[in-house]
Amino acid sequence: MDRIRIQLIALLVILIFCIPALTVQSNTEPSGTVTITVSSLNVRDGASLKHNVIAQVKENQTFPVLQTKDNWIQILLDDNLKGWIASWHVEVKQSGTTSSTYVTPMLEVLNVRSGPSTSFQVIEQITNTESYVRLESQGDWIKIRLKNGAEGWTAGWLMKDNNSASSSSPSAGPTLSSPPSSKATVNGSILNVRSGPDTSYSVAGQVRAGDTLVILEQKGDWLRVKKDQLEGWVANWLVKVESSLPQNQPKPQHPSEEPTIKILNPGTNLRSGPSTSSGVVKVADVGETYQVLGVEGDWYRVQITSNEVGYVAGWIVSAHGIAGVERKGIESVLKGKTILIDPGHGGNDSGAIGPHLGTLEKLVNLKVSQLLSSKLRAAGATVIMSRDEDRRVSLQERVDMSIQRQVDAFISVHHNTSENYRINGVITYFYSNGEDRDLANTIQKEVVKRTGLADLKARYGNYFVLRENPQLAVLCELGFLTNYQEEVIINTKDFHDQAAEGVFQGILKYFSDKK
Ligand SMILES: [Zn+2]
Repeated sequence: MDRIRIQLIALLVILIFCIPALTVQSNTEPSGTVTITVSSLNVRDGASLKHNVIAQVKENQTFPVLQTKDNWIQILLDDNLKGWIASWHVEVKQSGTTSSTYVTPMLEVLNVRSGPSTSFQVIEQITNTESYVRLESQGDWIKIRLKNGAEGWTAGWLMKDNNSASSSSPSAGPTLSSPPSSKATVNGSILNVRSGPDTSYSVAGQVRAGDTLVILEQKGDWLRVKKDQLEGWVANWLVKVESSLPQNQPKPQHPSEEPTIKILNPGTNLRSGPSTSSGVVKVADVGETYQVLGVEGDWYRVQITSNEVGYVAGWIVSAHGIAGVERKGIESVLKGKTILIDPGHGGNDSGAIGPHLGTLEKLVNLKVSQLLSSKLRAAGATVIMSRDEDRRVSLQERVDMSIQRQVDAFISVHHNTSENYRINGVITYFYSNGEDRDLANTIQKEVVKRTGLADLKARYGNYFVLRENPQLAVLCELGFLTNYQEEVIINTKDFHDQAAEGVFQGILKYFSDKK
């Protein structure tokens, strides 16, 4: 009897301990919750701005976190739908963590004040090489414990929560390895080498213009490099990458002169012939590039593999280096139209300077403008650039050019700034109602669609180049350099292309509608 009782008790003990363990295992526990901090936020079917919007969530709504990837968080919506949101628009709460929350400045040097606003005195400056205990928050400000034991307030939007999903470690996320033979040369004068792949990581050392770096790996827009004893991460847009091909493989003669197209939308069909009734031979993904063999009507004939050719609709892809390749179907819309592209600022007027990466507005304005100009030319328009290099042009000269050439449209290209680092998105300005407003609305819609940035709508703007300009004129502000996430995006080649494509499509739609 005693033995049976002992066995029963043992069985009971096993059951008590095993059942909860089993339920926990079979049911992946969410790693916390997120609370939405913007009035409305898109939920997408993947972890990037290019993925489709499947739902929208509103401010103060809270959702369980399923997983995180780079700066994106997968959440579980009320109707059991799963979707991805950008982590920079939410507040993350870890579940079950009672330990202190550590925060790190996103800037190299950040002011600590005696109270929660910029009107309070600066009591100390902290750097992004250290983490601090977060004590409390008030509005957008957070109180931290300083190293000397004192307390102080910092701007919450400039601090990164170490425990949250938005903090990525160098070991997390997909890593693309490069061939070990790849090298990069430093462009600027002095470049910071950091301990991780974004500007929030500490500076491990510096390299100089002309220095050659060995590329160890790549992650997003960042490269892990090595020079002598120094090893760390550098921004890829500040170096020139020289990918040396294996020696038995001949280098392409003029790779940049080959016309190519780039896929802009997920699941783009490549077909066997130049019409939507032709069979699909391949489904291409965003970012894939194909060499253009020719043009038939509105369609590009492209090389899929060395022995396979397909067709893709010209109006859903972006084209590069397409001298001599014109989009025949849309040519009639822009043929005979003269468009003045006006890259804002230039020369000793650098325009806005990004506070996080030091981006010069004048340079990104020019990059986007040059891409826009080649798209317009390829579509048959006559394009004038108010400047095609980094030089100063007065506002009056810009307007004069517009009048002298009697342009059909004047498009000024800028990037925005705000005292509030949280503000982000695209604005297209017009001065007069009517035609200017129509063009601004059309461009605004297309730029938002292609860049995925927030829609701050077309608005009235009292700018010299619009007000003094009798021609059809708009001014595009393609994102905020003062917003950390947008400054990062604005520095990518992909963004330059998408922004230019958006403005291009807007101009095209406007003139098609007026025909
Ligand atoms: Zn500007």
